[in-house]
Amino acid sequence: MNEEKNPRKQYAVYIVICLVLLMVFNAIVMPKLTQAAVRDTDYSFFLDSLEEGNVKKVQIEDSEITFTVEEDGKEQAYSTVRIDDPDLVTRLHESGDVEFTGRLREQSPLRDFLLGWIIPIVGMFMLWNLLFKGLGKRMGGLGNAMSFGKSNAKIYVKAQTGKTFADVAGQDEAKEALAEIVDFLHNPDKYAEIGADLPKGALLVGPPGTGKTLLAQAVAGEAEVPFFSISGSEFVEMFVGMGAAKVRDLFSQATQKAPCIVFIDEIDTIGKKRDGQVGGNDEREQTLNQLLTEMDGFDGKKGVVILAATNRPESLDPALLRPGRFDRRIPVELPDLAGREAVLKVHAKKVKLTDNIDFNAIARATAGASGAELANIVNEAALRAVRSGRSAVNQSDLEESVEVVIAGYQRKNAVISQKEKEIIAYHEVGHALVAAMQKDSAPVHKITIIPRTSGALGYTMQVDEDEKFLMSREEALGKIATLTGGRSAEELVFNTCTTGASNDIEKATKLARAMVTRYGMSSKFDMVALETVNNQYLGGDTSLACSPETAAKIDEEVSSIVRNAHAKAVQILTDNLGKLHEIARFLLERETITGEEFMAILRREPALTI
Ligand code: ADP
Ligand code: ZN
Repeated sequence: MNEEKNPRKQYAVYIVICLVLLMVFNAIVMPKLTQAAVRDTDYSFFLDSLEEGNVKKVQIEDSEITFTVEEDGKEQAYSTVRIDDPDLVTRLHESGDVEFTGRLREQSPLRDFLLGWIIPIVGMFMLWNLLFKGLGKRMGGLGNAMSFGKSNAKIYVKAQTGKTFADVAGQDEAKEALAEIVDFLHNPDKYAEIGADLPKGALLVGPPGTGKTLLAQAVAGEAEVPFFSISGSEFVEMFVGMGAAKVRDLFSQATQKAPCIVFIDEIDTIGKKRDGQVGGNDEREQTLNQLLTEMDGFDGKKGVVILAATNRPESLDPALLRPGRFDRRIPVELPDLAGREAVLKVHAKKVKLTDNIDFNAIARATAGASGAELANIVNEAALRAVRSGRSAVNQSDLEESVEVVIAGYQRKNAVISQKEKEIIAYHEVGHALVAAMQKDSAPVHKITIIPRTSGALGYTMQVDEDEKFLMSREEALGKIATLTGGRSAEELVFNTCTTGASNDIEKATKLARAMVTRYGMSSKFDMVALETVNNQYLGGDTSLACSPETAAKIDEEVSSIVRNAHAKAVQILTDNLGKLHEIARFLLERETITGEEFMAILRREPALTI
């Protein structure tokens, strides 16, 4: 990525600084230097010298008297403040051979002009810039001194982005939608001849890390056109009007370089709905208005295509989405099983691998991971290989790094008492057993009680055979039962409960709640939407859409679902208490066991001595 600095701008800064220094020197330092020989003194010294007859020449000005005194045969100039003294002239006259003159203050129109106008203006200008730059930096904007209202949109010229569609794994629908734009950028004339208007902009919508930026870069790479990239937050400035100026500047730069791609990341920061609140965000609204104007204004046939990315599409101003602006909306979703495998393979090309890597297994264990997380997994695996002194990445590196990305690094030297270790082991086996004893649960892949840096003291990993897109009511109930399995084991075996289940409780409640309020899975409410999801791509927090009375009933329903699931889990574990003990003992000994080992013990005939 090569960011071009603007050398002309920098020279302008130096020249202005030099000029200012020169002016200051001329106006302030020079006069001081020429007067250096004149000493300041007080009025009484002047009168004394006059009386003693030492004074030779006197020059009377408005507010100052300059006089020379003979001292040791040399003339020394003095100056003193003029005091209102009506007898002064008489006194001078009487003292004989004193030459005295009056003098009007020297008029220097140039100096007055400099002092009165130029220096204050230049000074204020510099101070303003300094402030602007400082604040701009702190607020995450890019502000170069003297770049008054100019944007510093980074210019990535084609050859260096070097990304193509081959670098983007999966996301076939998005690539297909963007291929047309690539074609348009290649030969705009073809479209112009027929009179077809291509979309001026396309909006890439999806969760963070799914490759939106990457796709935009790939479009520029495929079309071999320059790539302008700026983040929405860079438009948000301290002063009203600055953001708008940046937008204007960005578009003027882009039009000069057409055909090209302008990529605006996080467009929601400027494109939020204008709510018209009193004291609303003037700066943001002006910036948005400017963006709308520019998008309407420029000639789409020239070949400037604007791609924007967001993970909050619902908060965008409808004006942005109307035809002629971002009228294409391209979803960039989390990758599915095949997509994850493809992303892993694309990134694995950059590292050395041993033979027989099963990417499918890794992809299955990473349901819900984004492209960025998968890229990170491959890199973690490479780091792990280096750490253990091997020259290629193997399967276990990849498997371990999946866990690193999910749960953090192993805390090998964490000191956990034997008693607590036992509780943790029973807790995890509790989850695993409840999962295994229900037919709708995903198979257990791994159980471990090695603590992780994320704070997890142990966990049970379940991996589905295939990608699942739907969840049935039975599966949801089974999942809640599995989540309560850990606590149930603690209760059964130790007759107590610990804080270790807090995460399970949170997940179980969330799922039960969603069943009631969003999935229509409770007979009490039937298919009524009681909650709406706000941020689909960012955590998905919800807000209630029902009366307080209904809310109370929802709470009842949710707790009854969880309570039933808990009772079911306790029942399953009571029925399999022997296996619970057996597997927990095995886990305590090994610290980590695989799904196969777990199933082997489970299937084995009960030992005769219990
Ligand atoms: P977004 O802009 O959607 O937040 P990015 O495009 O910045 O995500 O993705 C971050 C990184 O994740 C990319 O640089 C790339 O390494 C990796 N990545 C994400 N999605 C993919 C994908 N589909 N194929 C290959 N790499 C991907
Ligand atoms: Zn648990």
